[in-house]
Amino acid sequence: MNEKSTFHKEKTLFGKEKNPSNILPTKYTLDSKIQFRCHPGVSCFTECCGNIKIVLTPYDILQLRKRLNMEAAEFLHVYTEPTYLEKTDFPGVAIKLTEEGRCPFIKSKTEGCMIYTDRPSACRYYPVGMAQFHEGAQEEQSAEEFYFVVKEPHCKGFEEDKTWTIREWREDQGVNVRDKMNKGWMEIVMRRKSFGFQATLSDQAKRMFFMASTDTDQLRSFIFDSSFLRTYDVDQEILDKIKDDDNELLLFSYKVLASMLFGTDDIKVKPDVLKAKVEAIKKDQAETGQTMVERAEADLKGIKEDWAKAKEPRSN
Ligand code: SF4
Ligand code: SF4
Repeated sequence: MNEKSTFHKEKTLFGKEKNPSNILPTKYTLDSKIQFRCHPGVSCFTECCGNIKIVLTPYDILQLRKRLNMEAAEFLHVYTEPTYLEKTDFPGVAIKLTEEGRCPFIKSKTEGCMIYTDRPSACRYYPVGMAQFHEGAQEEQSAEEFYFVVKEPHCKGFEEDKTWTIREWREDQGVNVRDKMNKGWMEIVMRRKSFGFQATLSDQAKRMFFMASTDTDQLRSFIFDSSFLRTYDVDQEILDKIKDDDNELLLFSYKVLASMLFGTDDIKVKPDVLKAKVEAIKKDQAETGQTMVERAEADLKGIKEDWAKAKEPRSN
C-alpha cells in the first residue's frame, strides 16, 4: 500500500509530509464537517501569508499575470523566484516574499489579499488538503481520494463559530476549476517524484517543462511555429481550441509533457514521420555506420534548435 498526496502545504500545494506535526490525524471525506472560518476579523488575519513558500501552478501563473496585466516573463521576474517542485528536478516558481518574509500581495493587515479573487491554488486549498490512497503500487490501480486538515498553532480560524462540510468549504473557495486545471500538471510532478532521481532528465526536457508551466505565449509559439505539428499528429479540432484558448492550451500541454517525459500515447508521432525516421535511421546506419543513439542525439539537437527559436522574442 502506498499513500500519495496530491495537494497541499508549503502554504500546502503538494504533500502532507511538509508539515506533518500540524496535520490532524483524521481522514476526512467530502461530507466530513470542519469548524473553521477565516475573515478580516480574526486576530491572526494575514499571519499565514508570511514565512511560507507558495508554489505556483501553471494556471495560477496564467490567472495572476492576466490579473496584473503582465507578460509572463515580467510577472516571473517581479513576483516569483525559482524552486524545485516537490522533491523532483522539475524547475518551478514560488512567490517571491518581501524582505520581511511577507507575501507581496498583502494589501494591509485589515484589507488582506489584494488579488483575492485570483489568489493561487495553495491559498485556496488551505487549510484543507487532498490526498489519494493507493491499494498497491501501480498508478493505474484505483485510488481513494480523501482530505486532511492542517491546523497550525497561529491559526485562530478553528476557534470561529462556523461549521461546514469539506464539500461546502471547497465550493466556497472556488477550487473546482483549480482542481480541473491543476490535476494533469500535478500528476506529472507526482509521477516524476515517484521515479526519484535515478531516471535522468535532460536539460531540454526541464526547459520544456518550465516553458509549458510558466508561459502560455511561448508554449503556443512552440506548438504552432516550430516543427512540432510536422512531427506530431494533433486533431484540427484540438488545434482550433488551443489557438486562442489559454485554458485548453494548458490542458493540452500536460498531455504533450506526459508524452514527452513518460512516453504516454496521449500525443502520437505522425505515421509518415515515424516511418521516414525508421527508414532514415536504417539508411544512415547502412551508409555511415551511425548508431541509433547517435542518430537520436542529432534529432534532439534539431528539437533544441526549434526550442531556442520558440524562445526568441517575437517581433510583433
Ligand atoms: S496571495 Fe493573497 S492569500 Fe495568498 S499568501 Fe499572498 S496575500 Fe495571502
Ligand atoms: S484564520 Fe488561519 S487562514 Fe485565516 S488568516 Fe488566520 S492563520 Fe490565516
